[in-house]
Amino acid sequence: MDCLFCKIVAGEIPASIVKKNVLYTAFNDITPQAPTHILIIPNHHFSNMAEAAMANPELVGEIFKAAGEIASEIGLESYRMNVNTGAGAGQSVFHAHLHLLGGRTFAWPPG
Ligand code: 5GP
Ligand code: ZN
Repeated sequence: MDCLFCKIVAGEIPASIVKKNVLYTAFNDITPQAPTHILIIPNHHFSNMAEAAMANPELVGEIFKAAGEIASEIGLESYRMNVNTGAGAGQSVFHAHLHLLGGRTFAWPPG
């Protein structure tokens, strides 16, 4: 399958890896939208996080847990976890991913 994030998981495309285990890979976003902008993705391909959750809710729980652990490890007290699902919501890479953003203030509602 021609998937950018599958290639990052496989090491075929370089990325700045933050944390990796058998379930997920966390790496820095190439176009950061905040001082900290990390993507946490399942190693297995799912088109979006909803599909991943329906197939394997424990896996999605581990991904959110990883985001919390990373935030704690780098000392983020306030941060935003974001999931874009579908092009209309801003999803541009169709391999499930969780955005972890921090290091600045965030507006609500989001744009
Ligand atoms: P989405 O818009 O699908 O929610 O998020 C996809 C994210 O992937 C974007 O924030 C984008 O900057 C990031 N991205 C796209 N291509 C690459 C890449 O080749 N490497 C890395 N590290 N991030 C990427
Ligand atoms: Zn993929």
